Amino acid sequence: MNISVSTSLKSNQTYLAKYLSLEQPKDAVQITYVFQHPGVPDSNGNYQSHWCGKTKVVDFVPRDASELPIWNSGVPDVSTTEIYLKPVRLYNDPFRRGNNKLVLCETYTDEMKPLITNFRYSCNEAMNEAKDEYPWFGIEQEFYLLDGTDGRPLGWPKTGYPKDIHDHQVLYHSAVGANNVYGRDVIEAHFRACLYAGIKISGENAEAMPSQWEYQVGPCEGIRIGDDLMMSRFILYRVAEDLHIGVTFDPKPVPGWLGAGAHTNFSTAAMRAEGGIKEIERALEKLSKTHAKHMTKYDPHGGADNQRRLIGADFAPKLDEFRYGVADRSASARIPKQVAQDGCGYFEDRRPASNCDPYQVTEALVRTVCLNGKEWEGKLYRYV
Ligand code: ADP
Ligand code: MN
Ligand code: MN
Ligand code: MN
Repeated sequence: MNISVSTSLKSNQTYLAKYLSLEQPKDAVQITYVFQHPGVPDSNGNYQSHWCGKTKVVDFVPRDASELPIWNSGVPDVSTTEIYLKPVRLYNDPFRRGNNKLVLCETYTDEMKPLITNFRYSCNEAMNEAKDEYPWFGIEQEFYLLDGTDGRPLGWPKTGYPKDIHDHQVLYHSAVGANNVYGRDVIEAHFRACLYAGIKISGENAEAMPSQWEYQVGPCEGIRIGDDLMMSRFILYRVAEDLHIGVTFDPKPVPGWLGAGAHTNFSTAAMRAEGGIKEIERALEKLSKTHAKHMTKYDPHGGADNQRRLIGADFAPKLDEFRYGVADRSASARIPKQVAQDGCGYFEDRRPASNCDPYQVTEALVRTVCLNGKEWEGKLYRYV
């Protein structure tokens, strides 16, 4: 039978409502374990992580992630091993509501060694070492919505491009109107779902290209920024799935059109205190000396993704140079005008790509700025 997506969505909702309104037994709480599966490495040895969520019923209402058992997941193509899922942060479940929870998990090998893509592990160590400086982060997550069936940005013409206002991106940024923005339903659903979950989401706006959006998380202290941002990405995929809309965090999905970043705003207690601008400048000087190293951590492919995005055109700085300035949105890092006027506050690192791992980015910042460049001495493990 050939039914349109909208007809099937509507009947699905009626169908589901009958069952979701059944009373849930008090001693059966649905816990969704949310994790990034490293997947199978490609021919270059790169893992292509993807989001997963699977549900376990427990007979109590957890108050903290540590009350939940370690669980496991299989590995495609390898029948002799499993990866282990360790619950680390609990959120309210905006999909099932009630006492049900989402729990963010770290991934380990079956010998409980941190897995190759578990960048939270060393990030957590760095955040603990730097905790006396009270590091705060706010991340601006940019992304494109996709036509679920063909991978084109949502609402773009089947061939060709939207009206070319490339030199006037302000027309689409924060825009309203049927010809200028696509997919607002997803953004509204995501915003409320994140608030309900307990994520510190702090804003949203339409971005510079039609069907490109941004939301902000933070400020959060230490490891929480990575946790909240990761869970917000899972929730975005999940709310968009209901409408058969795709999401991409690729930092340059359409060559010649604007890319997507994850601007990372950062401050320490000293930067936020009176006269903290001096601390901000000291931090930026340190960053100017460690630019190349940071670029290897600001996308999941060691800099290759940012090579497509940071081309010194399309409103992006150049990959291989570090510049900072007050109110300078073409620089690698920016001191907001207000911060310069107040003489204290935070700065914005504009280099991280939209698909960055926030644990890698915030760990790099803390190690360079707060820990004198001290490297992590441990190691991550492959599952085979
Ligand atoms: P932009 O002007 O670059 O678009 P946004 O308003 O989108 O900036 O985002 C600003 C981000 O800065 C938010 O994520 C917010 O949480 C974060 N932020 C604000 N104050 C601080 C601070 N003191 N330390 C770290 N991050 C901060
Ligand atoms: Mn922004
Ligand atoms: Mn933006
Ligand atoms: Mn920004």
